[in-house]
Amino acid sequence: MKLQNLAGGKRMEEFVGKCQKCGKEIYCENGFLNGVTSEGNLYCFQCSEGKFADKEDSR
Ligand SMILES: [Zn+2]
Repeated sequence: MKLQNLAGGKRMEEFVGKCQKCGKEIYCENGFLNGVTSEGNLYCFQCSEGKFADKEDSR
């Protein structure tokens, strides 16, 4: 038997880092990043949306 059961029971999840903004842990799941990298910084999807959203929001 080879090591093919690696993809079976256990999820392929790799800790990448924490969101620069809220500190949420970002993982790479099955090669898919759980967040966004921008200029070497790491953000979760929520914060990346907020980041891009309030570009011109000067309240
Ligand atoms: Zn965040």
